[in-house]
Formats: sequence, structure tokens, C-alpha cells
Amino acid sequence: MNQGKLLYAGKAKSVYRTDTKETLIVDFRDDITAFDGGKKDTLKNKGSYNAGVSAFFFEYLEKHGVKTHYLKMLDNNRMAVRTLSMIPLEVIVRNVAAGSIVRNYPFKEGMKLNPPVIVIDFKDDSRHDPMLNDDLIIALNLATPQELRTIKKISLEINRLLSALLAKQGILLVDFKIEFGRQGKTIRLGDEISMDSMRLWDKKTKESLDKDVYRFNKGDVMATYNSVAHRITGAVARPAAGAKKKPGAEQKEGQTSLRRAAKPKAEKR
Ligand code: C5P
Repeated sequence: MNQGKLLYAGKAKSVYRTDTKETLIVDFRDDITAFDGGKKDTLKNKGSYNAGVSAFFFEYLEKHGVKTHYLKMLDNNRMAVRTLSMIPLEVIVRNVAAGSIVRNYPFKEGMKLNPPVIVIDFKDDSRHDPMLNDDLIIALNLATPQELRTIKKISLEINRLLSALLAKQGILLVDFKIEFGRQGKTIRLGDEISMDSMRLWDKKTKESLDKDVYRFNKGDVMATYNSVAHRITGAVARPAAGAKKKPGAEQKEGQTSLRRAAKPKAEKR
């Protein structure tokens, strides 16, 4: 598959055309941003961890009947995806109160939200992604009532599947943001699901295992992303710096073991 012209560069991912109009390439870059781009850095290998975790989740969701844009990984950072016409909505599913919901409403951090709360924001950086409601979504013609019902139903199903999967690794899925697009009449999950777009807490210690580590300077972001990525995918963790390597277990500079250990045959799909 040949990578063509750059179609769009976001804050942490770039999207490229390919030889066929049905397929795009998403490149997960090493850039990380927070607070509407107010805080920015480039962290070596960050893109590969997010790409690996996203691919793992997309494959898992597809296996459980959720339609996504995912096709295959091309290398550690680049994912081949189906071309979608993206719907400018940020669908946030919350199981536990944290982040903006605590700042904006009288919820106490850590309070369980059962049933989960779905919040939908308008994806528009210039307006700082304002929160929408169903009437606004319909009035703005962003989605039809039927599409909105489908989007909410799929979002809750994704929440159910990922919460259960992560719980097995001792991780609490506090909240996450997803985006959808249309392929003809079919609504598919697009974008990414990664440490940048989820809030994950260690079930026992309640320690943050996601971008909050970067947002609020809670520790070493890359050590967190590395360890949580391997914890989620079940891949063999990269040895800590200075650890003794087993003979034949060397890795090339800048290469993660994430994809190879998690899904050795990903390229053959
Ligand atoms: O900041 P807030 O609490 O509203 O974020 C809720 C969830 O959505 C968090 O997991 C956050 O990482 C994610 N999010 C995102 N992109 C945004 C806004 C929120 O991935 N633009």
C-alpha cells in the first residue's frame, strides 16, 4: 500500500491518502498535547504505544461485532483504515466522575456513574468543543435522530466491552472519547482509542494510567504509556533501561514489541 498526499494533520495524528479512495493511512505521531494545544511535547515512541493499543481495541471490538474503520497495522505507527465521512461529534462515555464533569457540575471525583453518562461535544477547536444536546445535534444537522440513537447504542456497547476487558487487567475505565463516521449508510467507529483519549485508573491504587499523567505532571508519561500499553495488550513489556537482555531478544532502536507480541499476523489480514 502506497502512502499518498497528506490529507489532514491533527494534534497527534496525520492522515494520508493511498492509491485507493476507500483506504487511508493514519500515522500516530510522537506529539502529545493538552489543554486545547496549550501544552505540547514530542515524546519518543508515544505514537507507537497509542497505535498499538488502538489497533488492539479495534480488533477486539470488531471481533465482538462493533464496526470500526480499522483494517491493519502497516508498521508500529501507521494504521490502514477505511475512508469515512467523519461526523464532528466527540462522544464521551463516563463510568466514574473525573475531569471536566467534576469541574463543571457538582459531582465528586471518583463517584460511580451508573448507568454510564454519555456526553456529546461539538468537535470544533475554534469554539472549544462545546457540549451539545440531542436537539442541537439534529438542528445543526450533524446526525439524524436514527444515527444519533445508533451512535449512543454503539458507544454503550463499546463501554461494556472495554470496561470488562480492562477490568481483567486490574484497570478501571473511568471515561473515554470516541468519534464516528459514515461509510455509505453504515456508522463506523473511527479515530483512535488510546491512552490519549481514555481515562484509566489502576483499580487498586487509583493511580492514573493515561494522559492525565501528562496533563497534570503526575509522573513519567512514557513509562506509564509503555507499561499500560503492555498491560492492556498482554504483550511482553520492553525491559527497563539497564535490565539484562536475554540473548536474541534485542530490539531495534525505536521499535516496540507491542504489535509483534500482541498480533504476529496483523499484516496478513
Ligand atoms: O476533559 P474531559 O473530562 O471532558 O475528558 C473526558 C474524556 O475524553 C477523557 O478521557 C479525555 O481524555 C477524553 N477527551 C479526548 N479529547 C478531547 C476531550 C476529551 O480524548 N478533545
